Amino acid sequence: MAQQTLILEPAVITQTCYNCKETKPIIEFRKRKSRKSGYGTLCKSCQRLQSLEYTRRNYEKEKARWTTKNLKRRDDEMFQKRRLKRAKERYREMHPKTPKIGYHWTDELDNKLRENIHLTWSELGDLFPNRTHQALRTRCNKLKLNHLSDCQILRARLEAKGKRKCTICGHPKLIERFYKNNYQCKECMKEYRQRPEVKKAKRKRQLNGCAYKRAYTYIKRGQGNGRKPLSKGTTLKYVLKLAKQQDHKSAISGKSLNKTWTPNDDANNPSIDRIDNNKGYEQGNIHWVTTQENKMRRDYPLTEFYEICKQITEHQTKL
Ligand SMILES: [Zn+2]
Ligand SMILES: [Zn+2]
Repeated sequence: MAQQTLILEPAVITQTCYNCKETKPIIEFRKRKSRKSGYGTLCKSCQRLQSLEYTRRNYEKEKARWTTKNLKRRDDEMFQKRRLKRAKERYREMHPKTPKIGYHWTDELDNKLRENIHLTWSELGDLFPNRTHQALRTRCNKLKLNHLSDCQILRARLEAKGKRKCTICGHPKLIERFYKNNYQCKECMKEYRQRPEVKKAKRKRQLNGCAYKRAYTYIKRGQGNGRKPLSKGTTLKYVLKLAKQQDHKSAISGKSLNKTWTPNDDANNPSIDRIDNNKGYEQGNIHWVTTQENKMRRDYPLTEFYEICKQITEHQTKL
């Protein structure tokens, strides 16, 4: 009741505004101590309009004043400190401090921890109530106990049952359904291998050390330097197919060719040879021979080369 009378009382007193010449209750005027009545001469709405008009007229000046004021406020260290303090207080109100529990480790508890070190962290937590995971861990470190990771422990338990968990599909399956030392099940691996990007990568890896590819690129790179160019039909695919047709054996001597490149082994490393030396590297005009044979033959026609070989062998057997 007392509050109501306080509000009602000034509402009864009225005053005329200087600007709009209206008589309004005294609440509509701002307080001003310097005046006799204790209130300003303009009503609140008139004053607001006047101040707005002033800022509109002196916009640049006012703006500069605001910015300097703000900058000053920003640089005020005391203000920042006070704000931080207030924020901390507010945080404490929302999150009151809990009393800290001192963990007392007795010999009995230490022994208990030592015996149950093979359990996972969550199981250990059940055995030691009121102790956090971090507290148990620090104690383990202090006692120099080696606790394996939860993942390793669970894996070992499954292996003891004769099972293993697949890392792709996540199902525990029998160990027989895994390849040796592999944590992906056979079905998942099969699906993985059939992906186009994996297939492509595998093929690239296989071709990396391939002797046939090396011989092929050797010709391809030397095309400009007096070497006859590869025609369009002789791709790497064709050349590899040709090697398969020859059963990975030399067309001249029947020697078996190296599938993987071995350095300084001209006797067995493969090389592409032209049958008719007047033609280029075309389809039907090439065959696989060893590097040594290719070097020996040089530019002689095949029949002449065979004749030379025959003469040499005949003469050597006579001796
Ligand atoms: Zn007014
Ligand atoms: Zn799987």
